[in-house]
Amino acid sequence: MDKIKVTGLKKSFGSNHVLKGIDLEVKEGEVVCVIGPSGSGKSTFLRCINRLEEITAGTVIVDDYNINDKQTDINKVRENIGMVFQHFNLFPHMSVIKNIMLAPTELKKSSPAEARNIALKLLDRVGLADKADALPNQLSGGQKQRVAIARALAMNPDVMLFDEPTSALDPEMVGEVLGVMNSLAKEGMTMMIVTHEMGFAREVADRVIFMDGGYVVEEGTPEEVFGNPQHERTISFLEKVL
Ligand code: ADP
Ligand code: MG
Repeated sequence: MDKIKVTGLKKSFGSNHVLKGIDLEVKEGEVVCVIGPSGSGKSTFLRCINRLEEITAGTVIVDDYNINDKQTDINKVRENIGMVFQHFNLFPHMSVIKNIMLAPTELKKSSPAEARNIALKLLDRVGLADKADALPNQLSGGQKQRVAIARALAMNPDVMLFDEPTSALDPEMVGEVLGVMNSLAKEGMTMMIVTHEMGFAREVADRVIFMDGGYVVEEGTPEEVFGNPQHERTISFLEKVL
């Protein structure tokens, strides 16, 4: 079953045509890594999937909901789509556990006790059981990003979108975040991950998509895209980053 189905997606900002016609299907449990040069439209693409951007043309279907249909309750759909950004976006004045409990108590009407229980389990899962009462600024970058992942998981989403989750981290903290993502992938989470971590993409992705100039230029298994790229632009990009 397709979790995400994107057809003919275009997105322009004024006269800047950023996405020029993208088709993509992501199956349940599939891990798709999106690679490509800066400015190629990777972030815009992810943001169109949960309607953080209004699309210019095409359709985006998530969980059988056409997310641009006026009838669709976008907030309901978004509850099923967790998103993790490069800059963690934690609420600085709230403890770690309050950050994680916020959406479930506000949106899903979980009781505080129930939300707290779930938050503690999630903190344990990302290896931060002892940080529940810390404030974000008491954490390292890698810890903050693991909290951000736990916060996204607290809504029990069935799709997770990651936009360069390790790009703002010191190198020694990249591994701990990728480790959490790897275990999510193994548990069967449907994920789309924009990343510059080619080793991770190679190991974890079911499919790799190379974007350039607003198009998906090439896609395939990691073996295909990294091992035997077909397009000139893919080859020259990989030469620079590998
Ligand atoms: P990537 O994530 O691959 O680096 P982006 O999707 O961030 O690429 O950006 C692609 C293009 O879209 C860039 O030219 C950028 O300036 C433009 N862009 C992205 N967001 C906006 C916005 N909110 N308003 C205007 N232009 C934008
Ligand atoms: Mg980006």
